[in-house]
Amino acid sequence: MTASTQTAAPTRCRRCRRPLRNTKSAAAGIGPGCLRLERTETAGYTPEQAAKAVTLVRDGGITLIRGGLDALYRVEGAHCVYWASQVDCTCRGAAECGSCYHVLGVRILAAGRVRPSLYALAA
Ligand SMILES: [Zn+2]
Ligand SMILES: [Zn+2]
Repeated sequence: MTASTQTAAPTRCRRCRRPLRNTKSAAAGIGPGCLRLERTETAGYTPEQAAKAVTLVRDGGITLIRGGLDALYRVEGAHCVYWASQVDCTCRGAAECGSCYHVLGVRILAAGRVRPSLYALAA
């Protein structure tokens, strides 16, 4: 038993920034509710794609260009800029395999659960 790591500031959920009191949740960096949401949203994507999508949103790489029913987003890719909606994307991933993490990022951003500003405050 080690009493050396009595943290003053609790670990916060990477999605909603709420403090995580549960040891297991704190170790995972995400609360149980957010984990469930994330699993639902990321169904069909690999954990690597999901992580990339969350990082992209967190870093402000996705911007809403046009709202409404056919909302359009600007996605800052590694080498170029893509245009994406919640179902489609102009990158080659979408054209070649019908799935890319940009669309996932757009969904996460549209759901409003990862707010770049909150991460900016914590950084
Ligand atoms: Zn959370
Ligand atoms: Zn894409």
